[in-house]
Amino acid sequence: MSCVKDNELDRMRNEVLEITKEILRLVAKRQSLCAEIGKLKQAKGLSIEDPSAERILREAITKEALALGIEKDFAQRLTTQLIEECIKVQPKPPEKKVLTHRDIARMAEALERQGVRVIRMDVGEPDFRAPSVVVERAYQEMKAGRSRYTEPKGKQELRQAIADYVKMRFDADVKADQVIATMGGAFGVYLALASTVSPGDEVIVIDPSWPIYKSCVRYVGGRPIVLETRLEDGWEPNLDELNEKISAATKAIIMNYPSNPTGKALGKKTFKGIVEIAQDRKLTLISDEVYADYNFTGSEHNTVLNYPEVSYVLISSFSKSWGMTGFRVGFVISDLDRANKMAAIQSMLITCIPEFIQYAAIEALKCLDEAKKNSEVMRERAEAVCKALEPLPVSFYKPDGAMYVFPRIDVKGIDGSEFAVKLLENKNVSVAPGGAFGNYFNYFRMSLGQPKEVLVEGVKRIGEFLSTLS
Ligand code: PMP
Repeated sequence: MSCVKDNELDRMRNEVLEITKEILRLVAKRQSLCAEIGKLKQAKGLSIEDPSAERILREAITKEALALGIEKDFAQRLTTQLIEECIKVQPKPPEKKVLTHRDIARMAEALERQGVRVIRMDVGEPDFRAPSVVVERAYQEMKAGRSRYTEPKGKQELRQAIADYVKMRFDADVKADQVIATMGGAFGVYLALASTVSPGDEVIVIDPSWPIYKSCVRYVGGRPIVLETRLEDGWEPNLDELNEKISAATKAIIMNYPSNPTGKALGKKTFKGIVEIAQDRKLTLISDEVYADYNFTGSEHNTVLNYPEVSYVLISSFSKSWGMTGFRVGFVISDLDRANKMAAIQSMLITCIPEFIQYAAIEALKCLDEAKKNSEVMRERAEAVCKALEPLPVSFYKPDGAMYVFPRIDVKGIDGSEFAVKLLENKNVSVAPGGAFGNYFNYFRMSLGQPKEVLVEGVKRIGEFLSTLS
């Protein structure tokens, strides 16, 4: 009897094997067709990615999945993998070599080691020191032996302090259990994506954007879909275009206002518009608000915390507001289910953030004046830099917040990477090339993490360098 059953099992396993081979044969056929399509597109001068063709394909797949009784999300994820493989076999124009702020920083550091004084505007790090009470608290707690593991989300005392802080600062009602203390905002981005995205899911990224978003989406197996914004539109995202970018495979939108690199902050209407789209299309809105305190507009910071009806993850950090980059502490807030999911990932990867750092963070939350003062300093720097840029052959948006200016170089034929390297070599000024933030190759990003006088001197040298180009 059991022998008969075993034979049956073997027969079925063989059938599964044959079906899998058949699927592979079909994939091979699909791939060679895609290569042919690629050649045709190249001959006609069409771009490789074709959103309207993808939309038609995805709609048909959703219908087919329904008819076959296959889960729609699974069918869409599989479709994404097929689309990406198809893109891979199509002939591409030669890739542009894009340098990032890290590449330029490395070159600047090499010059510094040779004794050259470089005006550093590459890395997005404020020069502020952490408040002395914060340093003192970390030291005292470490001395008192508070260097143990804590619960993965962080100590209740810190999470309650963060919940109280967002209540006071944004009038947002969140419970301590929805809060997780993370290894900086950067790890918050990873937790948000890892808890939301399965391989093959799509995530909308609003460009120009902090490069980590796209790399992190890819790292968790997702596919970033870019919504470009334009200087001519004041970097305002177009909501119709956003709606069009959303497909049956989309799971989340990442947004970052005030923005790195543009300094754009959204008005309430657009912010709410994005929230409503996320809600309508059942997407998670991942809102990176690490620059919430660097706000020069005089009006309230718009935060996703004021829209608890949408599925969201807020990302925040102590790095910018209090000059605590090296403490590596930030936080995320979301609905409880997702917070538990993110806490499980954090627990698996790092257990928790250091206990004495958690106490330092509690202390920082009391230093509201310091955060205000830092914001005021950034505002003055942005003002001075924009004024100094005014006569130069560049166009830019005067930042509403954050700690960057993102000018376009209005000199024909210049590429941001080449510009950044030559500027460093010729004038010892380091900036981040625009291509690292998306399709903005004739832009560069200036970081305001230096005293005003140094920044203004940097702009003067940029002006001198630009005059040799035009
Ligand atoms: N988000 C944005 C937009 C950033 O620019 C940065 C830092 N450059 C971070 C998050 C992460 O900062 P941290 O990990 O130090 O909190």
